[in-house]
Amino acid sequence: MLGAALVMAWILAPISQGQEPAKYSAHPNIATALKEISAEKIRANIEQLVKFGTRSTLSAQDPASIAAGRGIGAAREWIKAEFERYSKDCGGCLDVKVDSFTEGPVNRIPKPTQITNVYAVLKGSDPEAAKRIVLVTGHYDSRNSENDNIKDDAPGANDDASGTAVSLECARVLSKLKFPGTIIFLTVAGEEQGLNGSKHFAQMAKQQSWDIEAVLNNDIVGGNKGPGQDPSVVRVFSEGVPVSADEKQLRQIRNLGGESDSSSRELARYIAETGATYDTVVKPLLIFRLDRYLRGGDHDSFNQQGFAAVRFSEYREDFTRQHQTIRSENGIEYGDVPKHVDFDYVANMARLNAATLASLASAPAPPVNVKLVTANLENDSTLKWEPSHGAISYEVVWRATSAPEWEHSQNVGNITKTTLQISKDNVIFAVRAVDNDGHRSLPAVPLPER
Ligand SMILES: [Zn+2]
Repeated sequence: MLGAALVMAWILAPISQGQEPAKYSAHPNIATALKEISAEKIRANIEQLVKFGTRSTLSAQDPASIAAGRGIGAAREWIKAEFERYSKDCGGCLDVKVDSFTEGPVNRIPKPTQITNVYAVLKGSDPEAAKRIVLVTGHYDSRNSENDNIKDDAPGANDDASGTAVSLECARVLSKLKFPGTIIFLTVAGEEQGLNGSKHFAQMAKQQSWDIEAVLNNDIVGGNKGPGQDPSVVRVFSEGVPVSADEKQLRQIRNLGGESDSSSRELARYIAETGATYDTVVKPLLIFRLDRYLRGGDHDSFNQQGFAAVRFSEYREDFTRQHQTIRSENGIEYGDVPKHVDFDYVANMARLNAATLASLASAPAPPVNVKLVTANLENDSTLKWEPSHGAISYEVVWRATSAPEWEHSQNVGNITKTTLQISKDNVIFAVRAVDNDGHRSLPAVPLPER
């Protein structure tokens, strides 16, 4: 019994069941950066992307078409030049890169076609933390009513110049700050043919063992100004049971009731918290499914490789805009043109993205090897974990098994083991690391340890 008493002496944190969730405070430098985000610059960028006529992945990318300013090649070169311009403004702080490969012939890509992802890396200022990456992405390719129609325009103002503009504007504004962790601003192509660009990028990241902690995919975040739109919210789609889980992990998820605790779902909850902390105009509306019916998105490419990734999309889509050749038919105007885009909404989306990227890139690493001790039948819960780089304390969060978001939190100090007087059978726990300035990591859900 003496041994047991010594173990318990670690700490027995007095927790009452009625603990309120912490209200986190905004960080002044991040809040100031969000004010720099400009709806005017976003409008100019979306209009510029539309001016390339078509950004179909199958459209022209030879030097002559680039010089003439029509086709996906011209769009790609312009995005690259924008990132380089932002980098020049911050003393070369961005590393601007391309991930280029040949795809096809495959479904919807009839002949070998070069696909190029363009991205900018804002490397973290702390050598250890810089290994951790958070990433924002949008697809810069577009399409009209027919996959292989590269003759007619495919403006793609909402789908997905809006998401591309979010990546660009986050890069412009956040490159003026320094973060311990690394941020990647990505724009991909080949989305409309089958997520080809993001698939290649995510596979490269996996093969090179990149530690990507979060992927924010913005696709159709234009806030289309049609009936039924709600410009006060954005849908955040996240997978429940991870597509990358193996048989053993699936068994564990089934046994423990872990169906709503994938890393992507924790990221979605983190975004909801960030929206509340920074009181963003557009509030996250968490949708607990991978994506909409009949549709897919680039976040799935990252999920497939085991990375946490979510999709942002406006509340209500207008299907007379997306993937439509510009025309008028029975009094209905078709086509994804800029006049239907709400640029203030896109700017607010960029603010929500930037706040999330900045918070995660500032935060310590999430605790690893988080364990819930299950050696004995007992009504208390003992959690333990390994120390995180950059942490000065740890916070335990928990919620009822039927609750969508974290309901309670308790900072337990700078320790790596704690016992709470709450039954693990009744709640879901997670542990997060907290730094000197109150930046919080993503929560890590424990695995049972006998
Ligand atoms: Zn799209």
